[in-house]
Parts: sequence; structure tokens; C-alpha cells
Amino acid sequence: MFADVIVDIQHEKLDKIFQYRIPASMEDRLEPGMEVLVPFGKGNRQIKGYVTGISETCDYDLSKVKEIIEIPERGMEIEAKLVALAAWMKANYGGTMIQSLKTVLPIKQKENAKVKKRLRLLLDEETGKRQLHYYLEKNQKARARLMAALLDDHLLEYELVTKKLNITMPVIRALEEQGVLAVETEQVFRTPVKQTEQKAQQITYTPEQQNVIECFRQDYTEGLRKTYLIHGVTGSGKTEVYMEMIRTVVDQGKQAIVLIPEIALTYQTVMRFYRRFGNRVAIMNSRLSAGERYDQMMRAKAGQVDVMIGPRSALFTPFPDLGLIVIDEEHEPTYKSEQTPRYHARETAIRRAETEGASVVLGSATPSMEAMYRAKRGEYVLFEMKNRSRMQQMAEVYTVDMREELKNGNRSILSIKLKELMEDRLEKGEQIMLFLNRRGYSGFISCRECGHVVKCPHCDVSLSVHRDGKMRCHYCGYEQPKITVCPECGSRYIGEFRAGTQQIEDMVRETFPQARVLRMDMDTTRQKDAHEKILSAFANEEADVLVGTQMIVKGHDFPNVTLVGVLAADMSLYTGDYRSGERTFQLLTQAAGRAGRGERPGEAVIQTYDPSHYAIETAAKQDYKAFYEEEIRYRELMGYPPAEQLLAVFVSGEDEALLEKGCHYLREYILRVIRHLSGAGSIKGGSPDVQTDRTGAYAAGVIGPASPGIDKIKDVYRRVIYVKAERYDILVGIKDRVEKYI
Ligand code: ADP
Ligand code: ZN
Ligand code: ZN
Repeated sequence: MFADVIVDIQHEKLDKIFQYRIPASMEDRLEPGMEVLVPFGKGNRQIKGYVTGISETCDYDLSKVKEIIEIPERGMEIEAKLVALAAWMKANYGGTMIQSLKTVLPIKQKENAKVKKRLRLLLDEETGKRQLHYYLEKNQKARARLMAALLDDHLLEYELVTKKLNITMPVIRALEEQGVLAVETEQVFRTPVKQTEQKAQQITYTPEQQNVIECFRQDYTEGLRKTYLIHGVTGSGKTEVYMEMIRTVVDQGKQAIVLIPEIALTYQTVMRFYRRFGNRVAIMNSRLSAGERYDQMMRAKAGQVDVMIGPRSALFTPFPDLGLIVIDEEHEPTYKSEQTPRYHARETAIRRAETEGASVVLGSATPSMEAMYRAKRGEYVLFEMKNRSRMQQMAEVYTVDMREELKNGNRSILSIKLKELMEDRLEKGEQIMLFLNRRGYSGFISCRECGHVVKCPHCDVSLSVHRDGKMRCHYCGYEQPKITVCPECGSRYIGEFRAGTQQIEDMVRETFPQARVLRMDMDTTRQKDAHEKILSAFANEEADVLVGTQMIVKGHDFPNVTLVGVLAADMSLYTGDYRSGERTFQLLTQAAGRAGRGERPGEAVIQTYDPSHYAIETAAKQDYKAFYEEEIRYRELMGYPPAEQLLAVFVSGEDEALLEKGCHYLREYILRVIRHLSGAGSIKGGSPDVQTDRTGAYAAGVIGPASPGIDKIKDVYRRVIYVKAERYDILVGIKDRVEKYI
């Protein structure tokens, strides 16, 4: 047996794995993630390494393969635990071990933490003075100068010594060798947010909050580690509950990770944690430099912080004694990585918590189908928080059928009801949010005569029109001047399909010239901090109306917003994804939840062309339960997750015909694998324990090759093949074979 070993990760670059022979005595003990001592290099220096995989074959010259020396006795170090997690991720999500390791381990960047050096006098006053005389006698001016300074101040900043006293390195080294002084270093870690001394204000928890906090505390102190799902309406006080749970864990000397989607990781949110936990909190976000992120990880490892807050990647914070992982807005799609390994933070968090003895708390106003399904099956403890913390009413929601509007002669994007309510709010000086349920940006150009849509020549997406009169592709950056004649039929009736946020902004300004309007979308948030600036301007009531895409519905607390308008609510229903109903429900519910978070009650208007669709109907009633029941029936009927498991195999290539052919072969191969596995009786490959065996059958099926939504990006054609199975381990088995096949 042979082990793949990654060697001394702190010093070597993460790009090579070595194979070592496993001595017979270790064969049944050795597991991926374990720390080992191995001989390395020409001199067979003994160094530390981590086992990343075990195999029966060796890829190198057998006579040159060395043997593992030993497994050190001490407990698993944090790196070893993370390496084990990486091995699990590789097994379940595919890709290479290096890709997983790079995702999981903090990687040292060239830009190191600033090292602050100091010189400390090691001699007593008497001896020091004698030494000073000696230097003066010998006419060693620099040494004398340094000695005199050290006698004045026994601890000197290195900078001061070299710059102000003009002392060079060799002089310092000479005195160090003579035992006169010691050079001390202290890592100075960059902290991106200034700490505050503000005290947390006392609040009285609602009975619902109290119940969750108490149940958790009782479990935790009894040593029970579970996964909890908090289904709490927007504003029910979930964040306060998380903080109290973290307090429980931190009081036991353990640490906590809080995952928050980047978009909701606002100054407001971060400050709440700072007020509670002071400088024992570290923040991770994409605006930090690689060096700053590394520093944050090292602060965590060194025990300088108790709480790490950040998006998906913060999950891999190397805390020495992890006690709790909180995932806020658990349903957010950003918790799924779009890069290999395509892990989901929820499943990976549960795995990490299991191996490190931590608890997991998932929270959402609109839990994902997966989380609710498992909670209902008893895999998670479910808590419901049905009331807002300060007993504010949930918003009153009106649904407007836009087809009726058209019949009544209203061609505007704003319905009559929405206009009326907007006028009312503007009069009262209350704020309005208009949310366009569309991924798109500004409008696209289409021909009114033949229906032709102008697309990017390199990507299968429509070009967007911008104010500067150009048409741009948002995938590859291609641009061309706006056209006035249809390239297909020559018609001059070609123009913008007016449905972008920019058009809504224009429309609002036109209809309500007195209103101050802000817009937040991809275009207005390109600059660093733009996002934060728009939100704080709106929070400071510098504008009456905020127009935006999905970005504006996430977790912000604007107490003066009493009206939310959802335009084109059904846009997200027809994305061709089995999750489109779920996404629509989530977006609409979250959007309605933005209204009336302060003293005054709120209202929301949902404009739709499909008011009887269950996702829209249940969202309008803010009835999660009804939505869940309907949606789970659909998933079960169709065999979609979470009822069954799905594996997506993405295939891409520049030659379209070759791609079709390749997909065909791959499909046949997968079918053969399924047949083989069905007959084999047992399937190898790790199971993430997310789905227990219900039927014992090895049923699996192939769908596609199908369109992944966009058929071409940057001249590369794309297809996807889906494999459906009841059991996750079957899909893992298929994935392993497909990876080898390619
Ligand atoms: P959620 O995370 O569920 O949306 P938050 O924890 O952000 O809810 O709470 C919403 C608002 O209510 C916040 O401003 C919070 O400080 C406040 N809040 C939470 N719990 C209470 C409480 N028990 N009493 C008073 N205010 C509360
Ligand atoms: Zn045309
Ligand atoms: Zn393009």
C-alpha cells in the first residue's frame, strides 16, 4: 500500500504530492489527513507531512519509493484536520487533491505579515557600561552608539536603530553574537476593522428567542453536538440568537465561525458582532488582500480571536478548538462553490463539525428545500420563529396581474396600485424599494417585426444596451455600437426591450420628478465600496427610492422603508432550473420582508404575469409551509433533489461537433457504469451521510446532454449531462469513474 503525502505545507509550495510506502504495521491505522514523518530529499531529512490519499498502486519507480517513518503520537493538529476535510471534499465533489487543499488550507502569500522587530539588552547595567567603555576604547563608534542607546532604553524598535541611529545589520549581528542583545520579533497582524469599545445594549429576548437559546445551551453543556435549523421570519431576531449561542461556545473556551453571504456582510452587521465580542472578532471578505486574509487566518490559529465572520471560504478558518459553525441565510446559492471542488458550504460545514466536535446552526427566513427536508426527517433539530422580535406586523402583500393592467390601458412598468402607494410614501417622507427580479442589467435589443435578439458573437447571451450608446456582453466584454436596423430582416423597428434597472430608474424620475432615486446593480457597484456607499446613503435617508436587482433584498435593515415593489416577479420562474420555483419564492419573500421593519407597518406590491403560480401565490401570502408542501411534491414526482440526488457533468469544447460526439460517448459510458454498479452489489467511495439508504436499490438514470442555460461562452460550447440516483454514494462512484475516464 502507498500513501500520497503532502510535505511540510508551511514551507513548501502546495504543488506537489509524493508517494511513500506504508509499512505493514501502519496499514490499518493510516488514514487521509493524518500527520506522518517521512524522509525527504537527498539527505533523507526527516520532515512532517500529511497523508492526502491511499492507493494500492505506485506511480513511480518502486525502487526509489521511500517508506513512512512514523505516525507522531500527539493529537491531530489543525492542519491535519483540514487535510482530512480536503480529502473528503475531493471524494465527494471531485477535482484533484491539490485543488481541494488549496481551497481548505490557508496559503501563505508572498506579501507577508509585517514583522516588527525589537532589540533587547541582555546585559545588566554594570556589564553594559563596561561594554560601552570597551567599544569606545577600541574606537568602534557604531557599536558604542547602539550600546549607549540600549543602556538608555533596554528595548529598542528595530526601525529606530537602523534609521535614526544609522546602525547596520552586521553591527547588530555582532552584538547579538556577543550576547549583548537579542533580536525579538513579534508578528503584527493587520486588522481590517478598527475595534470599538462600545458596550452591547441590553435586550430582553422574545419567548421564541429564549427557547432556541435555552435548548442550544442545554444541548451544548451536556456535550451534545447537533445540526440546528432556525426557520425564522425576517426580523425575528435570528442574529441575536446566533450571538447568544456563540457566547455559550466562547465561554467554554471554544471558537465559532459565522458564514454570511458577502452581499449581506455589511458594516451594520459586522458592527453588531464587534459590539458584542470586541476585538476577539475577525472579518473575512473579498475586499481584503490575500495577505490580509492570510493574517486573519493566522490570528485565528494563534488563538487571538474567537469568532470569524465571512463568506463561504471562512468555513476553513483554522481554529484550534472549533465549537460552532453558524450559516446565516442558509438558502443562498453563493454557498455552493462554482469552482472545483464544487462544494456546498452547508454539507462541508456539517462534515467539519462532525470530525471536530462542533455544532452547526443554519438560519433562514426561507430555508432551502434540502435543509427543510432533512430537518423534517429528523436529521436536524428544527426551530420556528414566527414573530418579529419587536412584534412588528409582517408586510401586507398585494399581487397585481400585469395582464389586467394592460387590458385597462396601463402600459407602464409600474402598476396603478404601485404608483398610488409610491405617491403616498413620497408624501409622508417614507422610503421605497423597487426590486427588479431579473439577473439582467439594462435592456437588450430585439426586433419587433421578426423577434430577432442581438446576441454576442462569442457567447450565447444577448448584448446589453448602455447609456453610452454601446452594446456590451457581460460575459466576455465584447462591445459594438448600438444598431438601428435589424441584421436579420432589415426592419427599422428594432429597439430596446425596456426592462433593466436603468430604465426603471428613468421611469421613476419621469413619473415622480420630486423623488430622490438611487440605483444599485452590477453597473453602479463596480467600484470598490460603491455597494456600501449606496446602502449607507439610503440608510441615512438621502434618497426616497432605491431601485435594484437581487442585491437589494439581502438582509438589510432599513427601518424607514414601508413600501417594496417587486417588478416582473415571474422573471426568475423560467430559468430552466429545477430550483427556479424555490428561488422565486425565496426572492419574493425576502423582498416583502424588507418592508415595515421599523415602527410603521409595511406594504409590498408583487407585479406578475402569472399570479396563480404556486411560488408567487405562496410568497404573496408569505406562507413557507404551503410552498414547501407543493414544491416537495414536485421534487418527489420528478426525482429532483432533495428527494433524489443529482450529479451534473459539465462538458465543454471549442468544436461543437466534437463536443456532441464526446457527450454521446460519455453518456454511453455512464450508462455502462450504472449497469456495472447495479450488478456489483457494493459501491466504493465515501458517503457524506446526507442521505440514508431507503430502498437499497442502485437505481440511477442519465438525462441529457442538455443545455446548461448558456450554450456558449467566449467561443467555448457547453453541455451538461445529469445523473440522477436515489443514493449519494452511487453518484460518487459514477463521478470517480467519469473522472478517470476523462
Ligand atoms: P434576523 O436576523 O432574524 O433578520 P435580527 O437579529 O437582525 O433579525 O433582528 C432584527 C432587529 O431587531 C435588529 O435591529 C435587532 O437588534 C432587533 N432585535 C432582535 N431581537 C430583539 C429583541 N429581543 N428585542 C428588541 N430588539 C430586538
Ligand atoms: Zn428583424
Ligand atoms: Zn460575449
